[in-house]
Amino acid sequence: MMMEVVKIINDDLNKLLEIKTDDGYTIESVHYRKTLCVSSQVGCSIKCSFCASGLNGLIRNLSTDEIINQYILAKEEGLEIESIAFAGIGEPLLNWDNVKSAFEYFKSLGLSVSFYTTGFPISNFKELLSLNHDGVNLSLHSVFEEKRKSLIPNSHRISQLLETFKNHLDKLSKRKKKLYNIAYLLIANENDSYQEIDKLGDIAKELGIGVSLLKYNEMDFFDYKSVSDERYEELFLRLREKGVRVTLSNKYRTRKIGGCGTLMVNRLNCTAF
Ligand code: SF4
Repeated sequence: MMMEVVKIINDDLNKLLEIKTDDGYTIESVHYRKTLCVSSQVGCSIKCSFCASGLNGLIRNLSTDEIINQYILAKEEGLEIESIAFAGIGEPLLNWDNVKSAFEYFKSLGLSVSFYTTGFPISNFKELLSLNHDGVNLSLHSVFEEKRKSLIPNSHRISQLLETFKNHLDKLSKRKKKLYNIAYLLIANENDSYQEIDKLGDIAKELGIGVSLLKYNEMDFFDYKSVSDERYEELFLRLREKGVRVTLSNKYRTRKIGGCGTLMVNRLNCTAF
């Protein structure tokens, strides 16, 4: 059996490709604008408490070819692709050798390649930072150790991650630092207090990087709630007033189809709202 697209789910902005691997697992890639968000693993062992993709743990790593084939299959569907985001199912650093080889291939085609990562394991995080990438977003989601541990159970301590980040960023020009962000997924009554946001702002300013403030996509698997639009705007302005470069979830990331954390939802009989 060959790796193949078994289903495409569309809305007016995103296209979610369900792709079957040779051994019968299903992975997902999402296309929006000219970006393809690829998966690096079947399942995920980080098991973020808000994410449908990691709900069943890790099944296996994808091979380099399987990562690249997501791009080839999407091209065969006629999709225009200028950028690759390692932001689909899986923690790219936990399948590092295969992800690196796929990264080199994508770069050799002239594609822009960015990463979303929890920073685990840190040795690979260090290596990622020094690659010729086009963006690294460190998923922090809380500035307090205990809270972060409850949201991202299998990762390093915040202090370790930030120290590694700082050691790298200190060597970079202001222009280069624009490639780096802290990704922060806002969940109502979990990590949206002023205390969290103010400390987040201080960290981003000290590092000289931006914050990508993401809105949680509610799913009926989890009790987590998204912050209201008013709260979202308020926290955005609070960070901006501190002088932090901050971006909001773009409209592609808040979709039922292919929104952050929602991959696998369709096949788990769960609804994303
Ligand atoms: S958010 Fe990413 S790292 Fe966390 S469980 Fe989901 S796929 Fe894994």
